[in-house]
Amino acid sequence: MTGNALCRIDDLSVHYRPGQAPALLNVSLTIRQGQRLAIIGESGSGKSTLGNAVAGLLPGNARVTGDISWSRDSGLFQGRPKPGRDIGTIFQDTGATLNPVLTIAEQVAEGAVRHLGLSWRQGRDLARDLLERVRLPHPSHLLKAYPHQLSGGQRQRVAIAAAIAASPSILIADEATSALDTVSQAAIATLLDDLVRRENKTLVFITHDIGLASSLADEIAVLHSGRLVEHGPTRRVLSAPSRDYTRALLADYLDLSTPPLISEAAS
Ligand code: ADP
Ligand code: MG
Repeated sequence: MTGNALCRIDDLSVHYRPGQAPALLNVSLTIRQGQRLAIIGESGSGKSTLGNAVAGLLPGNARVTGDISWSRDSGLFQGRPKPGRDIGTIFQDTGATLNPVLTIAEQVAEGAVRHLGLSWRQGRDLARDLLERVRLPHPSHLLKAYPHQLSGGQRQRVAIAAAIAASPSILIADEATSALDTVSQAAIATLLDDLVRRENKTLVFITHDIGLASSLADEIAVLHSGRLVEHGPTRRVLSAPSRDYTRALLADYLDLSTPPLISEAAS
């Protein structure tokens, strides 16, 4: 069930360079408690810009107009969300997220120590629990490991553990499975799905993969050249897209995911 609005995006536009087409134009969107929202679109359509704007992570050269407002227990506010508390982020590249010289325990516990006021010892205990929650084997052993000793899929699980350590209101995953092989990709998608459903978390799942979006999200928002061209329940968007652009995206996906009728060997 989705509930109260956690984050309202109102008429948001982002320009990176003067004279260049905007990366986002007049986007309005509400993220609600418990929602699983997929943001889809081709490369360059503005998906990461939207995710980064919500997470307060846009680079200094971005010119932003419009409003993003947040709701916390204490009421509505505008401005930067607290990383770790309002927002947890997971990106494609764990090399950029995880610090190569810190142990897994240090990286996972960091958010909890900083935001929840835990001691490092308590943080370490929490880190072990989190590694279990993201289903990593031998968590006590892993706490002492460094990122390079793990596989790509394991590193992404560590990044997810770190992102949820301080129980953020919204989890944003930006192409979080795109760098992985298909088996790890499916495993990470299943993990995110389980975490979000079991704990009624709010997920913004950014992807160019419409198939993945449809399996994870209850709502889909489609970006095209920085504009939000379609937004609605997953089932409706897939079965009766209201825009030609969404129809074309779907047709492309079905083309790619349907094996050819006559295999090359037979022809
Ligand atoms: P997506 O995530 O859908 O691939 P992005 O949000 O990364 O799209 O990019 C949207 C547009 O903004 C693209 O044209 C991209 O080249 C441009 N862009 C993204 N980040 C920057 C940046 N830091 N500086 C300048 N242009 C950028
Ligand atoms: Mg992107």
